[in-house]
Amino acid sequence: MSELPSRPAADRAVRPLVAVRELRTYYPIRAGILRRVVAQVKAVDGVSFDIRPGETLGLVGESGCGKTTIGRTILNLQPATDGKVYFDGADIFDSTANEVKKMRRDMQIVFQDPYASLDPRLPVGDSIAEGLQIHAVGSKAERRELVYETLERVGLNPYYARRYPHEFSGGQRQRIGIARALVLKPRFIVADEPVSALDVSIQSQVLNLLRDLQRDMGLTYLFIAHNLSVVEHISDRVGVMYLGKLVELAGRHEFYDNPRHPYSQALMSAIPIPDPTVRRERIILKGDVPSPINPPSGCYFHPRCPIAVEQCAVDEPAFREIVPEHWVACHLA
Ligand code: SF4
Repeated sequence: MSELPSRPAADRAVRPLVAVRELRTYYPIRAGILRRVVAQVKAVDGVSFDIRPGETLGLVGESGCGKTTIGRTILNLQPATDGKVYFDGADIFDSTANEVKKMRRDMQIVFQDPYASLDPRLPVGDSIAEGLQIHAVGSKAERRELVYETLERVGLNPYYARRYPHEFSGGQRQRIGIARALVLKPRFIVADEPVSALDVSIQSQVLNLLRDLQRDMGLTYLFIAHNLSVVEHISDRVGVMYLGKLVELAGRHEFYDNPRHPYSQALMSAIPIPDPTVRRERIILKGDVPSPINPPSGCYFHPRCPIAVEQCAVDEPAFREIVPEHWVACHLA
Protein backbone atom coordinates (compact mmCIF):
# COMPACT_ATOMS: atom_id res chain seq x y z
CA MET A 1 0.00 0.00 0.00
CA SER A 2 1.39 3.41 -0.90
CA GLU A 3 2.24 5.71 2.00
CA LEU A 4 1.23 9.32 1.58
CA PRO A 5 3.28 11.85 3.50
CA SER A 6 0.04 13.36 4.73
CA ARG A 7 -1.40 10.05 5.89
CA PRO A 8 -3.97 10.95 8.56
CA ALA A 9 -3.68 7.75 10.56
CA ALA A 10 -4.95 7.46 14.11
CA ASP A 11 -2.09 5.19 15.04
CA ARG A 12 0.70 4.73 12.57
CA ALA A 13 1.88 1.52 14.21
CA VAL A 14 -1.36 -0.33 13.38
CA ARG A 15 -2.10 -1.32 9.81
CA PRO A 16 -5.44 0.27 8.92
CA LEU A 17 -8.26 -2.05 7.94
CA VAL A 18 -9.46 0.55 5.45
CA ALA A 19 -7.13 3.09 3.85
CA VAL A 20 -8.51 5.76 1.53
CA ARG A 21 -6.04 7.72 -0.59
CA GLU A 22 -6.86 10.87 -2.59
CA LEU A 23 -10.27 9.46 -3.45
CA ARG A 24 -12.28 11.30 -6.08
CA THR A 25 -15.79 10.40 -7.19
CA TYR A 26 -17.30 12.64 -9.84
CA TYR A 27 -20.69 12.26 -11.49
CA PRO A 28 -20.69 13.39 -15.14
CA ILE A 29 -23.46 15.69 -16.35
CA ARG A 30 -24.34 14.98 -19.96
CA ALA A 31 -26.24 17.17 -22.41
CA GLY A 32 -27.12 17.45 -26.10
CA ILE A 33 -27.98 14.80 -28.65
CA LEU A 34 -24.56 13.18 -28.33
CA ARG A 35 -24.85 13.13 -24.51
CA ARG A 36 -21.47 14.82 -24.19
CA VAL A 37 -20.09 15.37 -20.72
CA VAL A 38 -20.53 19.10 -20.06
CA ALA A 39 -19.65 19.24 -16.36
CA GLN A 40 -18.84 17.08 -13.36
CA VAL A 41 -20.46 16.95 -9.94
CA LYS A 42 -17.46 16.63 -7.63
CA ALA A 43 -19.15 14.56 -4.93
CA VAL A 44 -15.85 13.43 -3.39
CA ASP A 45 -12.83 15.53 -4.23
CA GLY A 46 -9.50 14.19 -2.98
CA VAL A 47 -10.12 12.58 0.41
CA SER A 48 -7.59 10.53 2.42
CA PHE A 49 -8.05 8.80 5.77
CA ASP A 50 -7.53 5.49 7.56
CA ILE A 51 -9.82 3.38 9.69
CA ARG A 52 -8.06 1.14 12.23
CA PRO A 53 -9.34 -2.34 13.01
CA GLY A 54 -12.04 -2.21 15.68
CA GLU A 55 -12.55 1.54 15.60
CA THR A 56 -15.49 3.70 14.58
CA LEU A 57 -14.82 6.67 12.37
CA GLY A 58 -17.76 9.08 12.39
CA LEU A 59 -18.15 11.09 9.19
CA VAL A 60 -20.31 14.20 9.43
CA GLY A 61 -21.46 16.94 7.09
CA GLU A 62 -24.52 18.59 5.55
CA SER A 63 -26.58 16.80 2.89
CA GLY A 64 -24.74 16.64 -0.42
CA CYS A 65 -21.25 16.95 1.10
CA GLY A 66 -20.23 13.56 -0.31
CA LYS A 67 -20.23 11.42 2.82
CA THR A 68 -22.63 8.80 1.45
CA THR A 69 -20.72 8.69 -1.84
CA ILE A 70 -17.50 7.98 0.10
CA GLY A 71 -19.18 5.04 1.86
CA ARG A 72 -20.49 3.62 -1.40
CA THR A 73 -17.18 4.12 -3.22
CA ILE A 74 -15.23 2.37 -0.45
CA LEU A 75 -17.54 -0.62 -0.86
CA ASN A 76 -17.06 -0.51 -4.63
CA LEU A 77 -20.78 0.09 -5.12
CA GLN A 78 -19.96 3.35 -6.88
CA PRO A 79 -17.04 3.62 -9.33
CA ALA A 80 -14.26 5.97 -8.25
CA THR A 81 -12.96 8.61 -10.65
CA ASP A 82 -9.48 8.56 -9.12
CA GLY A 83 -7.60 7.51 -6.01
CA LYS A 84 -7.24 4.26 -4.09
CA VAL A 85 -9.05 2.31 -1.43
CA TYR A 86 -7.25 -0.52 0.36
CA PHE A 87 -9.02 -3.12 2.44
CA ASP A 88 -6.69 -4.98 4.75
CA GLY A 89 -3.83 -4.00 2.45
CA ALA A 90 -5.53 -5.10 -0.81
CA ASP A 91 -6.29 -2.50 -3.48
CA ILE A 92 -10.02 -2.95 -4.03
CA PHE A 93 -10.07 -1.10 -7.38
CA ASP A 94 -7.31 -3.32 -8.70
CA SER A 95 -8.76 -6.69 -7.70
CA THR A 96 -10.35 -9.38 -9.82
CA ALA A 97 -14.11 -9.96 -9.71
CA ASN A 98 -13.48 -13.04 -7.57
CA GLU A 99 -11.34 -11.14 -5.11
CA VAL A 100 -13.94 -8.38 -4.88
CA LYS A 101 -16.64 -10.98 -4.20
CA LYS A 102 -14.56 -12.38 -1.34
CA MET A 103 -13.98 -8.87 0.05
CA ARG A 104 -17.72 -8.17 -0.13
CA ARG A 105 -18.29 -10.79 2.56
CA ASP A 106 -16.12 -8.71 4.87
CA MET A 107 -17.55 -5.31 3.89
CA GLN A 108 -21.23 -4.63 4.40
CA ILE A 109 -23.57 -1.64 4.54
CA VAL A 110 -26.49 -0.62 6.75
CA PHE A 111 -28.78 1.84 4.97
CA GLN A 112 -30.65 4.82 6.34
CA ASP A 113 -34.00 3.51 5.15
CA PRO A 114 -34.17 -0.23 5.77
CA TYR A 115 -37.70 -0.35 4.34
CA ALA A 116 -36.42 0.72 0.92
CA SER A 117 -33.65 -1.88 1.04
CA LEU A 118 -35.95 -4.79 1.97
CA ASP A 119 -38.10 -6.51 -0.65
CA PRO A 120 -41.71 -6.00 0.54
CA ARG A 121 -42.75 -9.32 -1.07
CA LEU A 122 -40.15 -11.41 0.78
CA PRO A 123 -40.31 -12.61 4.38
CA VAL A 124 -37.47 -10.83 6.18
CA GLY A 125 -35.72 -14.16 6.84
CA ASP A 126 -35.33 -14.61 3.08
CA SER A 127 -33.95 -11.09 2.70
CA ILE A 128 -31.42 -11.73 5.46
CA ALA A 129 -30.43 -15.05 3.87
CA GLU A 130 -29.78 -13.48 0.44
CA GLY A 131 -26.11 -12.78 1.17
CA LEU A 132 -25.61 -16.35 2.40
CA GLN A 133 -27.06 -17.68 -0.85
CA ILE A 134 -24.92 -15.39 -3.01
CA HIS A 135 -21.79 -16.59 -1.22
CA ALA A 136 -23.00 -20.23 -1.15
CA VAL A 137 -22.72 -20.48 2.62
CA GLY A 138 -23.92 -23.80 4.09
CA SER A 139 -26.99 -25.90 3.31
CA LYS A 140 -30.52 -24.51 3.35
CA ALA A 141 -31.03 -25.70 6.94
CA GLU A 142 -27.70 -24.19 8.04
CA ARG A 143 -28.59 -20.88 6.40
CA ARG A 144 -31.93 -20.89 8.22
CA GLU A 145 -30.11 -21.46 11.53
CA LEU A 146 -27.71 -18.59 10.77
CA VAL A 147 -30.67 -16.28 10.05
CA TYR A 148 -32.32 -17.23 13.38
CA GLU A 149 -29.05 -16.74 15.22
CA THR A 150 -28.51 -13.32 13.64
CA LEU A 151 -32.06 -12.17 14.39
CA GLU A 152 -31.48 -13.06 18.04
CA ARG A 153 -28.19 -11.23 18.02
CA VAL A 154 -29.92 -8.01 16.96
CA GLY A 155 -32.59 -8.43 19.63
CA LEU A 156 -35.41 -9.89 17.51
CA ASN A 157 -37.34 -13.13 17.92
CA PRO A 158 -36.20 -15.74 15.36
CA TYR A 159 -39.89 -16.37 14.73
CA TYR A 160 -40.00 -12.98 12.95
CA ALA A 161 -38.08 -14.51 10.02
CA ARG A 162 -41.43 -15.49 8.51
CA ARG A 163 -42.92 -12.01 8.72
CA TYR A 164 -42.92 -9.30 6.05
CA PRO A 165 -41.23 -5.86 6.29
CA HIS A 166 -44.53 -3.94 6.68
CA GLU A 167 -45.27 -5.84 9.90
CA PHE A 168 -42.37 -4.17 11.75
CA SER A 169 -41.79 -0.78 13.36
CA GLY A 170 -39.03 1.54 12.09
CA GLY A 171 -36.65 0.48 14.87
CA GLN A 172 -37.30 -3.22 14.23
CA ARG A 173 -36.78 -2.74 10.51
CA GLN A 174 -33.42 -1.12 11.18
CA ARG A 175 -32.50 -4.13 13.34
CA ILE A 176 -33.41 -6.32 10.35
CA GLY A 177 -31.19 -4.12 8.14
CA ILE A 178 -28.37 -4.66 10.63
CA ALA A 179 -29.04 -8.42 10.69
CA ARG A 180 -28.76 -8.44 6.90
CA ALA A 181 -25.35 -6.78 7.11
CA LEU A 182 -24.22 -9.05 9.95
CA VAL A 183 -25.25 -12.47 8.72
CA LEU A 184 -22.06 -12.93 6.69
CA LYS A 185 -19.97 -12.06 9.76
CA PRO A 186 -18.23 -9.08 8.13
CA ARG A 187 -15.26 -7.20 9.55
CA PHE A 188 -16.21 -3.75 8.29
CA ILE A 189 -19.59 -2.03 8.12
CA VAL A 190 -20.52 1.28 6.52
CA ALA A 191 -23.45 2.54 8.59
CA ASP A 192 -25.02 5.18 6.35
CA GLU A 193 -27.17 7.42 8.55
CA PRO A 194 -28.57 4.32 10.29
CA VAL A 195 -30.57 6.24 12.90
CA SER A 196 -31.52 9.42 11.01
CA ALA A 197 -35.00 8.14 10.15
CA LEU A 198 -35.76 6.88 13.68
CA ASP A 199 -37.44 8.52 16.69
CA VAL A 200 -34.96 9.87 19.22
CA SER A 201 -35.96 7.23 21.81
CA ILE A 202 -35.25 4.44 19.32
CA GLN A 203 -32.00 6.03 18.08
CA SER A 204 -30.15 5.33 21.32
CA GLN A 205 -31.31 1.69 21.30
CA VAL A 206 -29.94 1.15 17.80
CA LEU A 207 -26.69 2.99 18.65
CA ASN A 208 -26.27 0.80 21.75
CA LEU A 209 -26.92 -2.30 19.65
CA LEU A 210 -24.24 -1.23 17.13
CA ARG A 211 -21.79 -0.62 19.96
CA ASP A 212 -22.51 -4.01 21.58
CA LEU A 213 -22.10 -5.78 18.24
CA GLN A 214 -18.80 -4.00 17.70
CA ARG A 215 -17.52 -5.14 21.08
CA ASP A 216 -18.71 -8.75 20.64
CA MET A 217 -17.72 -9.23 17.01
CA GLY A 218 -14.70 -6.92 16.73
CA LEU A 219 -16.36 -4.86 14.00
CA THR A 220 -14.94 -1.74 12.38
CA TYR A 221 -17.40 1.01 11.42
CA LEU A 222 -17.56 3.98 9.13
CA PHE A 223 -20.51 5.74 10.72
CA ILE A 224 -22.06 8.42 8.51
CA ALA A 225 -24.37 11.08 9.96
CA HIS A 226 -25.38 14.68 9.36
CA ASN A 227 -25.52 15.41 13.06
CA LEU A 228 -22.53 15.79 15.36
CA SER A 229 -24.50 14.78 18.45
CA VAL A 230 -25.28 11.34 16.97
CA VAL A 231 -21.66 10.46 16.17
CA GLU A 232 -20.33 11.73 19.50
CA HIS A 233 -21.42 8.66 21.42
CA ILE A 234 -20.29 6.01 18.99
CA SER A 235 -17.13 7.36 17.33
CA ASP A 236 -13.49 6.95 18.30
CA ARG A 237 -12.54 9.61 15.77
CA VAL A 238 -14.60 12.16 13.90
CA GLY A 239 -14.16 13.52 10.37
CA VAL A 240 -16.03 16.55 9.03
CA MET A 241 -16.74 16.93 5.32
CA TYR A 242 -17.59 20.04 3.34
CA LEU A 243 -18.32 20.06 -0.38
CA GLY A 244 -16.56 16.77 -1.12
CA LYS A 245 -13.50 17.42 1.04
CA LEU A 246 -12.45 16.37 4.50
CA VAL A 247 -11.88 19.61 6.43
CA GLU A 248 -11.14 18.21 9.91
CA LEU A 249 -10.24 14.84 11.43
CA ALA A 250 -9.42 14.18 15.08
CA GLY A 251 -9.95 11.86 18.02
CA ARG A 252 -13.39 12.23 19.57
CA HIS A 253 -12.36 14.04 22.78
CA GLU A 254 -9.89 16.30 21.03
CA PHE A 255 -12.50 17.15 18.39
CA TYR A 256 -15.41 17.90 20.72
CA ASP A 257 -13.20 19.83 23.18
CA ASN A 258 -11.37 21.82 20.56
CA PRO A 259 -12.85 21.93 17.04
CA ARG A 260 -10.41 23.96 14.90
CA HIS A 261 -12.15 24.42 11.56
CA PRO A 262 -14.70 27.26 11.39
CA TYR A 263 -17.21 24.89 9.76
CA SER A 264 -16.84 22.32 12.54
CA GLN A 265 -17.22 25.13 15.08
CA ALA A 266 -20.48 26.19 13.41
CA LEU A 267 -21.81 22.61 13.44
CA MET A 268 -20.78 22.25 17.07
CA SER A 269 -22.54 25.47 18.05
CA ALA A 270 -25.83 23.96 16.83
CA ILE A 271 -25.71 21.07 19.32
CA PRO A 272 -28.10 21.78 22.20
CA ILE A 273 -26.51 21.66 25.68
CA PRO A 274 -28.63 19.76 28.19
CA ASP A 275 -27.67 22.19 30.99
CA PRO A 276 -29.86 25.36 31.19
CA THR A 277 -27.10 27.27 33.06
CA VAL A 278 -24.65 26.86 30.19
CA ARG A 279 -25.09 29.05 27.11
CA ARG A 280 -23.32 28.57 23.81
CA GLU A 281 -23.38 31.16 21.10
CA ARG A 282 -24.82 29.78 17.91
CA ILE A 283 -22.74 30.45 14.79
CA ILE A 284 -25.11 31.04 11.88
CA LEU A 285 -23.42 30.52 8.54
CA LYS A 286 -24.33 32.89 5.73
CA GLY A 287 -25.61 31.58 2.41
CA ASP A 288 -26.12 28.05 1.17
CA VAL A 289 -23.65 25.29 0.40
CA PRO A 290 -22.20 26.16 -3.06
CA SER A 291 -22.74 23.82 -5.98
CA PRO A 292 -20.28 20.92 -6.21
CA ILE A 293 -20.42 21.38 -10.01
CA ASN A 294 -18.67 24.71 -9.74
CA PRO A 295 -17.06 24.97 -6.30
CA PRO A 296 -15.56 28.28 -5.12
CA SER A 297 -11.88 29.08 -5.67
CA GLY A 298 -9.31 28.69 -2.89
CA CYS A 299 -10.91 27.32 0.27
CA TYR A 300 -14.31 25.92 -0.69
CA PHE A 301 -15.70 27.28 2.57
CA HIS A 302 -14.57 30.90 2.06
CA PRO A 303 -17.91 32.40 0.85
CA ARG A 304 -19.52 31.31 4.15
CA CYS A 305 -16.60 31.49 6.53
CA PRO A 306 -16.98 34.08 9.30
CA ILE A 307 -13.20 34.58 9.61
CA ALA A 308 -12.09 34.36 5.97
CA VAL A 309 -9.11 36.48 4.89
CA GLU A 310 -8.01 37.49 1.39
CA GLN A 311 -5.79 34.47 0.94
CA CYS A 312 -8.76 32.12 1.47
CA ALA A 313 -10.34 33.03 -1.88
CA VAL A 314 -7.09 32.28 -3.73
CA ASP A 315 -5.21 29.42 -2.07
CA GLU A 316 -6.66 26.06 -1.21
CA PRO A 317 -5.63 25.20 2.37
CA ALA A 318 -3.62 21.99 2.82
CA PHE A 319 -5.03 19.27 5.06
CA ARG A 320 -2.34 19.31 7.74
CA GLU A 321 -1.70 17.84 11.15
CA ILE A 322 -1.70 20.87 13.45
CA VAL A 323 -1.26 18.85 16.66
CA PRO A 324 -0.65 15.09 16.79
CA GLU A 325 -3.66 13.23 15.35
CA HIS A 326 -5.60 16.43 14.68
CA TRP A 327 -5.88 17.33 10.99
CA VAL A 328 -7.41 20.55 9.68
CA ALA A 329 -7.73 22.21 6.27
CA CYS A 330 -7.66 25.91 7.18
CA HIS A 331 -5.03 28.61 6.66
CA LEU A 332 -5.80 30.09 10.08
CA ALA A 333 -6.03 26.92 12.16
FE1 SF4 B 1 -12.18 30.04 6.67
FE2 SF4 B 1 -10.00 30.67 5.30
FE3 SF4 B 1 -9.93 28.71 7.07
FE4 SF4 B 1 -11.24 28.42 4.78
S1 SF4 B 1 -9.04 28.70 5.01
S2 SF4 B 1 -11.94 27.82 6.78
S3 SF4 B 1 -12.08 30.44 4.49
S4 SF4 B 1 -10.28 30.88 7.48
